[in-house]
Amino acid sequence: AKFNGKNQVKVYKSDCEQATASYKLALDLIPAVEQDQFVLHFQPIVCLEKDTIIAAEALVRWNHPEHGFIPPDKFIPEFEKNGCIAILDEYVFKQAIVFIERWEDKPEEFRLSINLSSAGFASEVIKSHIKHYWQTAPNLLKHITLEITEQTLVNNVKQTQKNMQLYREMGLKISLDDFGTGYSSLSYLHMFTFDSLKIDRSFVSSYEAGHNSSTILESIINLANSIGINAIAEGIETQEQYKLLQKLGGNYGQGFLMAKPLIEEDFVTASTQSPRFWIKNKGA
Ligand code: C2E
Ligand code: MG
Ligand code: MG
Ligand code: MG
Repeated sequence: AKFNGKNQVKVYKSDCEQATASYKLALDLIPAVEQDQFVLHFQPIVCLEKDTIIAAEALVRWNHPEHGFIPPDKFIPEFEKNGCIAILDEYVFKQAIVFIERWEDKPEEFRLSINLSSAGFASEVIKSHIKHYWQTAPNLLKHITLEITEQTLVNNVKQTQKNMQLYREMGLKISLDDFGTGYSSLSYLHMFTFDSLKIDRSFVSSYEAGHNSSTILESIINLANSIGINAIAEGIETQEQYKLLQKLGGNYGQGFLMAKPLIEEDFVTASTQSPRFWIKNKGA
């Protein structure tokens, strides 16, 4: 260990510093949950045929006392690595229920989507909360959709199928997020039962560039419709994309053209207005 030691130590040190930074962020998680440093923002999901808001996706943001505002892409992968993501997912689930309870004037059909990590979807703690609400306030669960990704489906097929069935029986809906980005999206549609799929925004944003993407979009929408589930297009940013999706028979969409993720108050206000109203007002 005496020879060469210095260089090796440098390598270890930088690895170690990275690991330490990630570990520190994970250690911040529990106090952050206790101090309500996480906030949900709400991005409208609109019906492209009727021009109305029918749902929203809850997207978490961290208002960190030292590092300021942190977007989910910066901390969710760290929590996943450190095995503590289910703690955040549990918090988000509870906040989603609180929001549904607090919003008295919500439309009967309104659904709030929350994103669950693979560990969150398998979590016994979250399962026990869901069972609790099913016994005490089943109407609240009828307003919630769980968004999961293919990562969840590959991990433990049997258990995932069981949980999906249980949650759907309890009134939750299940949506397959980022559809088309994984290795075997088609086979998952065959092996699991979903209520909807979300077409990854890469298919929507590459439309202007040609690349057959309108054909691919159309195929995904037709596929979804033919198995009786809804297709939700993510990442609609332009009028052209909005119109194309309407033309292709896409049922639902979400994107910055209609609205960015909004704070609760702004979302509740926006939900009474037609998306066409916002688009016009942006002069897009
Ligand atoms: P996602 O579930 O696919 O969420 C959609 C992401 O696309 C959001 O980013 C949203 O702000 C962004 N987006 C929406 N419309 C547009 C658009 O028109 N253009 C562009 N360029 N982007 C758009 P966000 O909020 O940064 O979230 C990133 C990811 O973090 C989410 O991807 C989801 O995988 C994860 N995430 C967010 N909240 C939670 C949570 O509460 N729990 C877990 N486990 N993951 C979460
Ligand atoms: Mg999502
Ligand atoms: Mg997505
Ligand atoms: Mg994503």
